[in-house]
Amino acid sequence: MTILFNNEKPFVEGVNINELTSIIATPFYVYSQKSITDTYKKLKNSINAEIFFSVKANSNLAILSLMKSLGIGADVVSSGELKRAISVGIPSEKIIFEGVGKSKEDIEYAINNNIRQINIESIEELNMINVLAKSLERKVNIGVRLNPNIDGQTLDKISTGRKTDKFGIAFDLLPEVCSQIKILKQLCLQGISCHIGSQIHNIKVFEEIFNKMKLAVKIVDENGFSIKHLDLGGGFGVAYNKAEKELSLNELSSLINSFFQNTTYDISFEPGRYLVAKSGVLITKILTSKTNASINFLITDAGMQTLLRPAMYNAYHNIVALTNNNIKKKYTVAGPICESSDILAKEITLPQQQTGNYLAICDTGAYGAVMSSNYNSKVLPAEILVHNNRFSIIRNQEKISDIIAKDIIPNWLKN
Ligand code: PLP
Repeated sequence: MTILFNNEKPFVEGVNINELTSIIATPFYVYSQKSITDTYKKLKNSINAEIFFSVKANSNLAILSLMKSLGIGADVVSSGELKRAISVGIPSEKIIFEGVGKSKEDIEYAINNNIRQINIESIEELNMINVLAKSLERKVNIGVRLNPNIDGQTLDKISTGRKTDKFGIAFDLLPEVCSQIKILKQLCLQGISCHIGSQIHNIKVFEEIFNKMKLAVKIVDENGFSIKHLDLGGGFGVAYNKAEKELSLNELSSLINSFFQNTTYDISFEPGRYLVAKSGVLITKILTSKTNASINFLITDAGMQTLLRPAMYNAYHNIVALTNNNIKKKYTVAGPICESSDILAKEITLPQQQTGNYLAICDTGAYGAVMSSNYNSKVLPAEILVHNNRFSIIRNQEKISDIIAKDIIPNWLKN
């Protein structure tokens, strides 16, 4: 939550959001530089491990530049994300590339940029990288992303480490993977990794991960390799509502220290959500209001095209009104998209609202703007970064003319 009220006026750091709404078209995202910086420092000071920011959570170049200035590495899942990380100057030796479906072009781009390591997710991919590396006359540092068959006790749709999930290589195949790597001469095994899902709140899950991955290190060792890096994934849980508990960094730190004393390899994590979620808000305008079957709807210009998480995961985001009022009312906040699932919050209590007022949808710094779409031919939203009492537009709102200009009508349909 980054909005604070001062004399009833909403602020992100020193910037009055009411003033922003008079000059920037809604919906737009606002991020607090201080909040991201403080969150990173808190994490870095708590745990003894390297941190790679999972770029998928928020890939805006300004956010990546901030990460770079803080000295964080990057964890990317496409050559597009890799290009972003490189373009802001994150050193290639601080970039890890993973992803369940890498194209030939993705891999070539990663090889040519000499990144720290490409994490492979299938035996087929091992062979593919070896062939590409050979044709480029290169040796390639790789990691093996394992599927440790651990349930992160999180939402089904953000679980990635159960044996039935598509991610990683089945744990039992590890000896076979090692034998393959011995044959594939262009590959240098540097590390092993896993990521079992997002929003992990229970420290016991990390204990399970650490146990399984230490076993993996032993298996790799017995099969003739000693790794340099053990990457333990992201997934640090944040609290979107009062019932949720943020993952305890104290508990995580003690656990890391008890598992990984005097190891011959370094350990790292790749959080995305934790570093940015609480540092962003989405500002939206109420387009209209109505009551259907005693449900008071506020229809806003932000919807599932701007913030997909509520429609996709039933995710909760706290919503605060920028205009106060002593009368309180129950509202359902819905977006403008022609889908019944386009609901941002159900039956929440807000000060009485009217058309033209603004709402702030909180904790939207992660998996917000990056998941926005053009559905219903809506434009992608603007993004703003605040630093003390300054702000900068870090992405302009798209123009509808730019979207339409991408379509091509074949000659035979033109008169
Ligand atoms: N690493 C990998 C491989 C991922 O797929 C993800 C997210 O899906 C992350 C890290 C970051 O997860 P989170 O944002 O929950 O920390």
